[in-house]
Amino acid sequence: MDVPVPFLDVAAAVRELRPEIDAALDRVLSAGHFVLGSEVEAFEQEFAGYVGANHCVGVNSGLDALTLGLRALGVGPGDDALVPSNTFVATWLAVSACGARPVPVEPDPRTFTLDPELLEQVLTPRTKVVLPVHLYGQPADMESVLAFARSHGLVVLDDAAQAHGARRGDSRIGATADATAWSFYPGKNLGALGDAGAVTTAHADVAQRLRLLRNYGSASKYVHDVKGTNSRLDEVQAAVLRVKLPRVDGWNERRAAVATTYDEAFSDLPLTLPQVDPGGTPVWHLYVVRHPHRDDLQAELTRQGVATLVHYPVPPHRQGAYADLDLGALELAERLAGEVLSLPIGPHLSEDQIAETVQAVRTATLRVEQRR
Ligand SMILES: *Cc1c(COP(=O)(O)O)cnc(C)c1O
Repeated sequence: MDVPVPFLDVAAAVRELRPEIDAALDRVLSAGHFVLGSEVEAFEQEFAGYVGANHCVGVNSGLDALTLGLRALGVGPGDDALVPSNTFVATWLAVSACGARPVPVEPDPRTFTLDPELLEQVLTPRTKVVLPVHLYGQPADMESVLAFARSHGLVVLDDAAQAHGARRGDSRIGATADATAWSFYPGKNLGALGDAGAVTTAHADVAQRLRLLRNYGSASKYVHDVKGTNSRLDEVQAAVLRVKLPRVDGWNERRAAVATTYDEAFSDLPLTLPQVDPGGTPVWHLYVVRHPHRDDLQAELTRQGVATLVHYPVPPHRQGAYADLDLGALELAERLAGEVLSLPIGPHLSEDQIAETVQAVRTATLRVEQRR
């Protein structure tokens, strides 16, 4: 391998857009207004327009977007939330943070998103909300989830932290659920220079509650109608996100092109490739393959200079944080945790790096196979 292939390069987008980012930061510094100002308002409008939602409310992080989104939808102590068993732990932590209880739903192992067929089985009398996650940038089957929720009087909040720009049919993720939570953590498809998040929603009353909740429960200074928190998107992050937002579709196209290259290059290998549900257009936050000897494959790729990661090695129900729920075994989540491997994918991978990754994955997979 001539040049090692990094898993992620969060500085690449900054290098690409440095003059525009400098100009945006300069604007904020000159205005001298740093919290909840015109940059946040403008970004909220632009991002709402991008996803096709009526409202967007900027907050501090993806976790806060989920937590406050749930609270704004009325989810609280005594409620159950149906959540994927194979998500990043933040999805579950948000449910716990608002006093509700996560109830896991196993995924469709081909697409990694929650299997709507299983919702009926896990429904409890206390269920208030379904919380699908568009994991790895693959849109969950929102039509089925929404139909199930409507027929049982539930609300739907989706976790779109990995799905900026993804679509179900003609609609973007963010336009169809009761509320959608976004993260702009630097490594996401749309990333800030630090922590940032937002909630999009079609409902004016939900947006209004979010504006209170993120700002000490206050609509006007020193008047506090609900027990809110401090979770505001700041002007610096909003200004940078405004520079990057018009680039997201182009970056997502480059991710999709890498995914197509991998699909074709690996089709003959003994490796399970990610499958796309024909109802959706993914944005390839991650390209996740499965292999029964994942750790051997990962070690072989590391030796060849290709960085990979595991999303995620321990499912939430097996974390110490959730020992109290005593959920027992969740077969699919556990099997996926042992088999998934994320290959490098991103808009800034060079043609050489893509070619090197292809070659390394082919060699590594065949070597692991020969050793068995
Ligand atoms: C990143 C992420 C979050 C949390 O976002 P933060 O901004 O890091 O708080 C939640 N859910 C999923 C699926 C994520 O990937």
